[in-house]
Amino acid sequence: MATSEQELLGTDLGKYFSEIADKRGKNSEGRNRMHALFRSLLKKTSKDNLAKAERIRKHNLGRKKQRARYIRDIGVIKTVVNRELNFLFTRKTNPVKAIVVEDLSARMKAHFCKKWNRWLSGWMRGYLQERIRYKAKKHGIEVNPAHSSRECPRCHCTDKKNRRGDVFKCSYCG
Ligand SMILES: [Zn+2]
Repeated sequence: MATSEQELLGTDLGKYFSEIADKRGKNSEGRNRMHALFRSLLKKTSKDNLAKAERIRKHNLGRKKQRARYIRDIGVIKTVVNRELNFLFTRKTNPVKAIVVEDLSARMKAHFCKKWNRWLSGWMRGYLQERIRYKAKKHGIEVNPAHSSRECPRCHCTDKKNRRGDVFKCSYCG
């Protein structure tokens, strides 16, 4: 995150992104292998094979673990964002007096697959907006949106993509 004072915040996020991307890559490889095994077991329809296939489906191909992993990964990112914003809003030297929220863009091309990149940068933008609002309010700091016509009245996500002519659809909360 870069401020108008040319400060960089949360520079360790890149490191966490790499770790998460590596883990995700390995997990999806493992999942693909299990899928292949599952399909091959279904072809040989002996009782043993079917039971084994069912065990794989239940323990290795379920969505539960995937969901838990996702929540853990997002948790790491949230922690960094909140830590940096806490620092920004509570520091004694060069304290923040006002916040002007510009369009926030997140570039994370290097780390993830295309689909996750797109989703994550959208999510980041919305999450940052929401956190900045929340923390600014908590510390009695005024927030002036630079692009109010692009701002979602519900979650305060400000994004160019939110508005197409007269049609407004929030890219974060929908
Ligand atoms: Zn919204």
